[in-house]
Amino acid sequence: IHCVNPATEETLCSVVADPTEPRTATFVGSRALNSVRMRAEWAGSELARRAAILARRSGSAKDIDVAVAAARKAFATTWGKNVTGLERSRLLNKLADLMERDAQQLAELESLNNGKPVKIARDFDIGDSVACLRYYAGFADKIVGQTIEVDNKTKVAFTRHDPIGVCGQIIPWNYPIQMWAWKVAPALACGCTIVMKPSEFTPLTALKLSELIVEAGFPPGVVNTIPSLGSVGGAALSSHMDVDKVAFTGSTVTGRKIMEAAAKSNIKKVSLELGGKSPQLIFESADLEEASKWAALGILYNTGQDCTAGSRVYVQESVYDAFLEKLVEKANALTIGHGFDEKSGGGPVVSKVQYDKIWSYIESGKQEGAKCILGGEKRSGKGYFVDPTIFTDVKPDMKIVKDEIFGPVLSVGRFKTEEEGIKLANDTSYGLGAGLHSNDASQCMRVSQALEAGTVWVNQYNLLYNNVPFGGKKQSGIGRELGSYALEEYTSVKAIHWNYGEKLDWPL
Ligand code: NAD
Repeated sequence: IHCVNPATEETLCSVVADPTEPRTATFVGSRALNSVRMRAEWAGSELARRAAILARRSGSAKDIDVAVAAARKAFATTWGKNVTGLERSRLLNKLADLMERDAQQLAELESLNNGKPVKIARDFDIGDSVACLRYYAGFADKIVGQTIEVDNKTKVAFTRHDPIGVCGQIIPWNYPIQMWAWKVAPALACGCTIVMKPSEFTPLTALKLSELIVEAGFPPGVVNTIPSLGSVGGAALSSHMDVDKVAFTGSTVTGRKIMEAAAKSNIKKVSLELGGKSPQLIFESADLEEASKWAALGILYNTGQDCTAGSRVYVQESVYDAFLEKLVEKANALTIGHGFDEKSGGGPVVSKVQYDKIWSYIESGKQEGAKCILGGEKRSGKGYFVDPTIFTDVKPDMKIVKDEIFGPVLSVGRFKTEEEGIKLANDTSYGLGAGLHSNDASQCMRVSQALEAGTVWVNQYNLLYNNVPFGGKKQSGIGRELGSYALEEYTSVKAIHWNYGEKLDWPL
């Protein structure tokens, strides 16, 4: 576990974990621990104690066993079918109130955790997470089955939507609080219990949120948080024989491992929100001023560390030059700086690993012959900052066009006809998001239907709402989060057949 403030490269906590036995992880340097203590005090919570624990050890497979057992016990005794929907709703609303109360503190902690600007974490990530908890709190007492007539005289059938059981929730580092809320709210609303494994890069806000779970009054064992390495805690959860479901957000490579582990263990239910290489098509009738803002937002929001990042933009030839000029102007207008600076619209990228990965893609773009028209030069000084970078003259087989970079690096190409634009947009193994900008309503309808993606935005980009489902096609994942659709991920449908009069005519 190596938890670094991405803006200053200052160590927040650091351990060398022995992958064979992470319990014996060696703590590196007391200065790092002091740094955690100081920051935790400054963040004003009980976090110091928890961060100190975190800094000494990373959760092992044995810790996952303990957490799963606690979650199973709670499911059988205090949660699951032992609690009314009304009570689940009350507790979720209480948790939302506490998150709202501590929004500033959580936002500051998230900025230390992940690098994103405090104001963005507070107004968007936390605001949206609070709304997510309240949205699913509303569902908690409305999870109902159906009554189905099977004959009109002697038999009836009905369905129950039972909570699926113990859920292993494995979340990434790009939206640590929001992904926590997306995984916690529907699961608890349905009556499931949780073992939460935050990313090893960003464990701090998940720990703070655990405190709020306790304060809200959830019974012990309903939500259990184990900060751990993916290859240890994540792997243990996805192969666990007593976990009923794993919900995962992260890379396609890891998603594949999780499905495999689920298949080889107890065939647990799996939902996966994976990567993307999402396109935006700019047609000649579009409002270019607006389209250029959405395109900039698509690639620069969260410094491009976004599964729906609109990382490929294709522009119709007749408006290519005019659009590009506006796009560069919009990208230049965004200030990428320290998360604690109110002027910052974007922060540093999350870690040294991610920083190096993004720069290797920028170098490969240059080597493969794309033209870098914005950015492409490293800053001097501390922090994992990557400025907005735009490549033109791209070809479909270039790595920057094919791979998910997860940074503020955009490829811009051009097309002549609608058909060609659609073909370019769909030329990817991913299918998470797609955008189109046009003032021709028939074209908007045609193209939105032709784009192969779980979400299509028309004349906008990247906006998500808690009541609208979200998920991927192709290698971007399976299952849906958000909206009423997410409830299906956390319930198991039981059909009950009832005979109230038929005598069996035996033998047949
Ligand atoms: P990752 O998929 O490895 O990590 C996501 C989560 O999975 C973390 O909690 C991690 O600990 C856990 N994990 C890792 N290995 C695991 C395993 N074998 N079994 C179970 N859980 C495991 O992603 P990363 O390494 O942090 O980032 C790599 C790339 O993934 C990024 O560069 C980016 O392209 C992509 N990514 C996508 C998303 C998304 O929202 N779609 C989020 C984060 C990263």
